Amino acid sequence: AKADGRRQMRFFDPAMTRALAHRRDMESELRMALRRDELSVYFQPIVDLSTGRVRCFEALVRWFHPERGEITPDEFIPIAEECGAIVTLGNWLTGHAARVAANWPDDVQLAVNLSPMQIKAPGAALGILSALKDAQLPPERLELEVTENLFLEDSPAIELFIEELSAASVRFALDDFGTGYSSLGYINQWPFSKIKVDRSFVSGPQAGRKSDAIIRAVSQMGKSLGIEIVAEGLETIDQVRAVRDAGCTLGQGFHFSRAVPDYQAALLLAEERGT
Ligand code: C2E
Ligand code: CA
Ligand code: CA
Ligand code: CA
Repeated sequence: AKADGRRQMRFFDPAMTRALAHRRDMESELRMALRRDELSVYFQPIVDLSTGRVRCFEALVRWFHPERGEITPDEFIPIAEECGAIVTLGNWLTGHAARVAANWPDDVQLAVNLSPMQIKAPGAALGILSALKDAQLPPERLELEVTENLFLEDSPAIELFIEELSAASVRFALDDFGTGYSSLGYINQWPFSKIKVDRSFVSGPQAGRKSDAIIRAVSQMGKSLGIEIVAEGLETIDQVRAVRDAGCTLGQGFHFSRAVPDYQAALLLAEERGT
């Protein structure tokens, strides 16, 4: 009876009701946004810390709502994941980003974030391979970023997806490393070519001597395993130096550039290569 009472109270909690209404609005608006072309893809460079050259761009979705202005991915990606719209959104983004990336020099990779639900959708691996084919982007130039929470459930669909795409030479990166149930087991079991150390280790309130030691240890491990370590969230030159000294080979963050539209990404590459 006590538990029931609590449930009822939550049901009538006005803040909760508002949050639910907000969520329903966001869901239908997101589906409309997909139809109305309100979403775009921005690209943030991942830079080689020894040469300063761009090695990869991470595709990040942007939503410019006609009335509400920009809505951040942290606000709408979780809703898109819950209502399933992430599958449509992800298919659109992968296709679009692959066509943009096909115009970059051959040594520049494209990184795309994948949610667990996208991976478990029927035909997911085939969908990605056909998007690459349509865009004429070689599979080895695509890197799929997945987080540790993907491995919480042990699903045959996920195993199959990774095996199928790895066999086709698509790369995988372990994203936001250190924020979830970080387990060396995942690194041992799956063919990651990169590990992205979460920005909380670089610039968060927890960053400091201990985080430095952790980055150093992860970099050491990466070196022995042939996995590149990316430091995320680099905002200052001091942070860049610190992670480079700790052994990271790649970096990403506002110090280098924010995510920019495709024409600016192309400009960045042209300037850097003097073309
Ligand atoms: P993420 O995958 O960890 O992406 C990096 C986020 O950190 C981006 O935020 C980026 O703008 C931000 N960032 C980069 N450098 C810095 C820095 O120096 N300082 C700070 N404070 N932040 C930095 P964004 O674009 O808002 O994306 C947030 C999250 O939304 C992403 O985190 C990712 O989990 C998710 N997301 C974004 N686009 C997609 C997408 O197309 N598909 C999926 N499934 N998720 C996406
Ligand atoms: Ca990411
Ligand atoms: Ca990340
Ligand atoms: Ca993140």
